[in-house]
Amino acid sequence: MQLVRFPRRRYTPDFTPLERLPRLTDALGGPEIWIKRDDLLGLAAGGNKTRKLEFLVADALAQGADTLITVGAPQSNHCRLTLAAAAKEGLKCRLVLEQRVAGSYKPDATGNNFLYNLLGAEKISVVNAGDDLNAAMQAHAAELEAAGRKGYIIPGGGSNPLGALGYVACAHEIVAQSFEQGISFDRIIVASGSCGTHSGLLVGAKSVHFDAPITGINVRRPRTEQEGNLLKLARETAALIEIAAPEAKDVTALDEWVGPGYSIPTDEMIEAVRALARLEGVLLDPVYSGKAMAGLIGLARRGELKRGERVLFVHTGGSPALYAYQNVLQS
Ligand SMILES: *Cc1c(COP(=O)(O)O)cnc(C)c1O
Repeated sequence: MQLVRFPRRRYTPDFTPLERLPRLTDALGGPEIWIKRDDLLGLAAGGNKTRKLEFLVADALAQGADTLITVGAPQSNHCRLTLAAAAKEGLKCRLVLEQRVAGSYKPDATGNNFLYNLLGAEKISVVNAGDDLNAAMQAHAAELEAAGRKGYIIPGGGSNPLGALGYVACAHEIVAQSFEQGISFDRIIVASGSCGTHSGLLVGAKSVHFDAPITGINVRRPRTEQEGNLLKLARETAALIEIAAPEAKDVTALDEWVGPGYSIPTDEMIEAVRALARLEGVLLDPVYSGKAMAGLIGLARRGELKRGERVLFVHTGGSPALYAYQNVLQS
């Protein structure tokens, strides 16, 4: 396995910080909590999609594309970062927005939605949950082709095997940093959505025999369905880099913190977002990292994270979405 064989653009100059969270650790009174600051990755306001885009955009450029086409929810961090990567590379970018919650797209909404406009989206089309997202992206590609241009389609969340390589690389980064800093982790906790982040971490950890469990906290799907999706993408990603795939027993994605549905606020999310802001000065987001941190806090309270257990929370970013949830989060 040599990741270096895959073309990659670099959007972050260095490793993201690995920090201890002393005040959250004290407040939880048991496990020792650390954070991997992937909210500080490069491109506009950072977040996990930046790592995936390093590989995906390199592939788009290799194929001679002039326009990136992708899909996401109305407050999608992935769409924001794809637009930012396009701007940096001198490409155009088109979006398909999926209203996972009926009527949730408002052209004049704040948060990421406002940034779509600021970052210069060339065209936005809106579809409803259950519609064929791929067909909607293909329609953009066909329109471009008719005009003598060339689109490159990036799946939702950048979650295909090539995108997941970004988190294979992140797992290697965590292992290198933990060695350098002399800290061994007993568990990793991460938000689990379109699977590229969690599957990539599983594959990357496996590739270097890093054996701490990686616990996903779901933001959308029921546990069994999510674990099936994760295993499938992990197998495809492992095949791409020609290593043995993670096994079903290594895949855990808990669904107790999804609440009523994707992007719908929960009391636990609100508590977690406020706690990290007020104890550590760290901004989470309402849709992903807030619910994932709610899961970490919940597991600690239940005694499932043992006293002294060293837990690494991977902060996947998303803070621009906070502004679209001011009415829920302001106290
Ligand atoms: C997309 C996203 C996730 C989920 O990552 P996946 O790779 O889609 O599972 C987590 N946090 C934030 C902030 C995101 O934007």
